[in-house]
Amino acid sequence: MDLVNSKKLADIDGIAYRDENGGVKLTRERRLIENLDELPLPARHLFQLSRYHALDVHASLITGRGCPFNCIFCVGSRMGGRRVRYRNPKLVVDEIEQALTVYGFNKVNFEDDLLTLNHKHLYAICDEIIARGLKFNWSAFSRVDTVNPDMLRKMKESGCTHVLYGIESGNQQILDTAKKKITLDKVREAVKMAKDVGIQVMASFIVGLPGETRETLNQSVQFAQGLGVPYGFHVLSPFPGTEVREKASEYGIEILTNNWVKYDCNTAVTRTKEAGPKEIYQTIREYNDIIKRVLNYLEEQGTLDLHGESTKTRRRSPLAVALLKSDVIENLGLMKLDANPVDGLIDKVAELMPYSHHQISDNITSWVKQGFLKYTVKDGHAIWEWS
Ligand code: SF4
Repeated sequence: MDLVNSKKLADIDGIAYRDENGGVKLTRERRLIENLDELPLPARHLFQLSRYHALDVHASLITGRGCPFNCIFCVGSRMGGRRVRYRNPKLVVDEIEQALTVYGFNKVNFEDDLLTLNHKHLYAICDEIIARGLKFNWSAFSRVDTVNPDMLRKMKESGCTHVLYGIESGNQQILDTAKKKITLDKVREAVKMAKDVGIQVMASFIVGLPGETRETLNQSVQFAQGLGVPYGFHVLSPFPGTEVREKASEYGIEILTNNWVKYDCNTAVTRTKEAGPKEIYQTIREYNDIIKRVLNYLEEQGTLDLHGESTKTRRRSPLAVALLKSDVIENLGLMKLDANPVDGLIDKVAELMPYSHHQISDNITSWVKQGFLKYTVKDGHAIWEWS
């Protein structure tokens, strides 16, 4: 708001800017917002929401900010602060209700760094969702040492379908060095707890943490496979402000580049003494091969767990992603106004995109039917756009 109100840059806390000589200036640290309820609900209507709906994504929202833990690789607690502030549960559920009824989402992901930290707060949200009779699926990030069966049951009752546990490594020493403060036994216990109440666990690992070797990479893969839940690997990105970056040499981490574009959690930008990009990519490649084989097998068997809606989405998503990534619809410009403009659009997209005519027709017809794609007429031509 300070920027929008044209306050002098030097007087705005918490920003970096270029001065008249082109030098970078940092202002003072900005105080955290104490009362999150002062913030208005996000102006989602300013986005072309149909672009999100075509990808079948969830609405993202937060119930609080901050995380009191101090994992050395984490930029989340650094950005949101270590002192957690919570929103009023009723206002959180107001926002959910708005996302469902006004904006047409049917699932929500709570983007809090650690939703399951404060059980009183989370119970209040779950109870409010149940009391209002809201039916939708939701997911959240969690830590294995912050859940218990009662809490998970309540989450499930209010629509929780997935929790993502940050597990990070299958090697206890690496977990201890990273100050994750969890044990492998605790991980197994928390995974079982969630499975027992019918919540799907996604297990997230980081490769390249201090102390990583070929052997520890294998341990992580084996541990992940032993959990019996979907899992994924991220590559360590030592973002500014994280302890692993600030004390990189103490942790035996060599930072290979400061090209921030590569800090995408998929690119290896560090090495330990015994594991660098080669070992990291090999682990990820093997993981991708396993996933591909499992998905192909399940699809061939017709037993893909995420049946119906999600199976369709899996097939549809690549086209939606490709269209949205390159703004294909936006770049079509004026199109000849055929007797049936939808057919004209399908034919045009089929000329431009390497997907089958049938697949394109299926997707576009469905998006038009749902009101995601619309056209206006100008000078006797059709102009298509995401609504
Ligand atoms: S990784 Fe999770 S628990 Fe650790 S500091 Fe970050 S948000 Fe908190």
